[in-house]
Amino acid sequence: MIKRRVEEIPPEQLAKFLEVQERFRQWTTEWYKSGFKSPMPEQNPLKYFAIELKHAMKLLPTNGLKSGVWRVPLPFNTELRFGKNAGDNSRGVLVDLSEKAVKVRKWSGQRNNTITIKLKKTEIKWIEERIREGGQLKLALAWVGKRRGSNMMSFNVALIFYREVTPYQPRRLLVVDINSLHNGVVWAVVEERRVLRRGILRPDLAHIGRLEREAARLESLCATKGGAYCRRAVELKSRLWRLWRQWTVEAAKKIAKLAIQYKAAVVVDKPMNESIQELKESGTVARRNKIYLNVGRFVKRLRELAEWYGVPYREERLYSTICPVCGAKMEELPNRRVKCKCGFEANRDEVPIHWAQKRYREIIPLFSTTHYIQLFPIHFT
Ligand SMILES: [Zn+2]
Repeated sequence: MIKRRVEEIPPEQLAKFLEVQERFRQWTTEWYKSGFKSPMPEQNPLKYFAIELKHAMKLLPTNGLKSGVWRVPLPFNTELRFGKNAGDNSRGVLVDLSEKAVKVRKWSGQRNNTITIKLKKTEIKWIEERIREGGQLKLALAWVGKRRGSNMMSFNVALIFYREVTPYQPRRLLVVDINSLHNGVVWAVVEERRVLRRGILRPDLAHIGRLEREAARLESLCATKGGAYCRRAVELKSRLWRLWRQWTVEAAKKIAKLAIQYKAAVVVDKPMNESIQELKESGTVARRNKIYLNVGRFVKRLRELAEWYGVPYREERLYSTICPVCGAKMEELPNRRVKCKCGFEANRDEVPIHWAQKRYREIIPLFSTTHYIQLFPIHFT
């Protein structure tokens, strides 16, 4: 995703863009409420966006109304240009790799009102990687919105690549257990009854903990003294958010790579609602909940990566407190140990691996090769 501070957009263009975005949201909200029956806009740019939105809705899941408004970003058709002399089919968003810029057009209904954003090296690299992997640029979304955890506004462009992949037929299972990121992501490569390799991915919780305590301190100073403390609290919180996001992205990538290496299907043991409830009721500060919420983000990221790379993927309930030997409910001991009357004893996080071994022959056939067209993960909130 391409993100720029609104200050980098010429003020007249920004004002006009915001006006168009607002008008389009009014129309989409009305359209949504009418059950997608109210008439299409007759004039550009809304007419153009309405057509593109219908197209985008076939490709992307959409959210519903939020506080009575359907806050959709402006959707554009797209074009990638590699060489200087390549043609230009005047699509809405032109990604010009020879000029290293993204040009946003068609949004104002006026000619020559292009918003040009220079691409950073990392963004060019990201685009080139997607192309190398066989991705096709199908759609772009642009919007102006608040940055997470702050009042700063940014101008955003999300480029959406699709790729046709055939998931491979798995020969092993890569079991991933993520009851809470606090305890790390426990993974194991299972083949029949054997565990070929296992490991734990853990964020640097000591570091994150220090930053969280510092953020809490700044927040209470902000409440009494205000000013600079509030700004610093906001900055630190967005730094924390970025740290978590970065960790999530990297951990998901590691799991996807392992799966490809072992020709394994990823089987995620997703915590049930009860365990979420348990966590919330346990009364251990809000911090735990925050960590928990990241589990959802991790799972989403992993699912998207698996789909993009053609890694077979499934979410299965694999138990942590039910005995994989005799099926009885096990006793929970300190230090996350669990013990059964039949003599089975293990670390709680290891139990799903035992379940995957036990259910191996039942789970493997659930992955049948089918064609899909998948999109690369994008984030817009
Ligand atoms: Zn047992």
